[in-house]
Amino acid sequence: AYLTSGRLKLQPQRRSRRAAGEFDGPCPPRYTESAAERQRSNVRPASMTEPSPQELDLTLRTLDEATRLLASEMDGARLIERALSTLSDFGRSERVALLMIEDGGKGIEVAGLLARGKRICPDRAVAVQGTPLEQVIAGRQARLYPLLPNDELPLPSFVEESPGAHCLCLPLIGNHHLVIGVATLDRGTAAELPDHQMQILNVLATLLAVSLENARLFHLATVDALTGLYARRYFEIRLEEEVARITRHGGLLSLLLTDIDQFKQVNDRYGHQQGDLVLRELAKLLRATIRKGIDLPCRYGGEEFATILPVTDLNGACEMAERVRRSCEEYRFPSPMDLLTITVSGGVATMDQDHLLSGEELVRRADSALYRAKDAGRNQICAWREG
Ligand code: GH3
Ligand code: MG
Ligand code: MG
Repeated sequence: AYLTSGRLKLQPQRRSRRAAGEFDGPCPPRYTESAAERQRSNVRPASMTEPSPQELDLTLRTLDEATRLLASEMDGARLIERALSTLSDFGRSERVALLMIEDGGKGIEVAGLLARGKRICPDRAVAVQGTPLEQVIAGRQARLYPLLPNDELPLPSFVEESPGAHCLCLPLIGNHHLVIGVATLDRGTAAELPDHQMQILNVLATLLAVSLENARLFHLATVDALTGLYARRYFEIRLEEEVARITRHGGLLSLLLTDIDQFKQVNDRYGHQQGDLVLRELAKLLRATIRKGIDLPCRYGGEEFATILPVTDLNGACEMAERVRRSCEEYRFPSPMDLLTITVSGGVATMDQDHLLSGEELVRRADSALYRAKDAGRNQICAWREG
């Protein structure tokens, strides 16, 4: 909430004191290695100024909200968005980038950039060797360097090319004390942040690193690697949650099971790799057809997909299923050989507060409808009915 509405603001009084350079008193910051190191990396003395009790109270309350938001976010992309705004707020920076170390540790890729309030995800890698980033990663300490000029990313350089402008680099140290990335903040000034703000940024960097790793593990555990759809175990958990919600609060829910027709023949004719490609393409079609952020598409088994359709009655679910069936029938799957078309069959079942079912029973009904669709000649949708 504070990320979009009440972004942490400098107090007016504090802003003018800053502008008057009152925050530039000498102080040996605890977060750099030594005085000699600081000299080498052009770090200027930091502020001794302590925040007022009111400022501290506001900052800690905002920090509490920020840590809660970061720690509870399991979606990697949303986590990166939140992290960028949070670092921008607490680091008082207009330009923040998150750079993540690639597997193998050779390069760094840009996970996100926040520049003048706009979030961008530039698809590029950044060199590490011979740059200050290498020092930050090896030294595992926050460091301030001159800002590399003329780059859309805030990147550190060893040489002071644009006087004044500096780049604060925060190593992101995750589980097992491994550096997994670096957050870079354009500071626009060589003055260090006051000690207490640096300590807050270090806390945020640690929390962010652990949250990013947790989000990655959550993704691995819940998403099917081939199709990018949710995995079966996650589907089962979410279905139970939906069923519990309807049982307690009322409402309705439908379930769609889709199965590729004669998929074995596709594998036999075109090879298993081509079969895998069809599964990936079909997953894309399914995602494009359903309601984003509402429906939950999963890979239920080999070539079978289950989609939870919350707040959807039987008619709505059959319409949705028919759209999936048609888009599949019309789609020309990329194939090195001849024209490759496939069809799917679907089964739909529904439940509401007047007809409560277990998740298991709902799946059983959708499955029996699917079998009727197969029996009736495939490439069609059937709704569950008694008997
Ligand atoms: P039906 O219309 O009755 O569903 O026929 P079918 O051939 O689709 O059904 P069957 O259950 O006989 O075969 C399913 C095939 O799906 C067999 C298996 O090789 C293939 N399959 C399952 N998982 C994967 C996968 O991950 N990749 C590939 N390429 N094929 C898979
Ligand atoms: Mg099949
Ligand atoms: Mg099957």
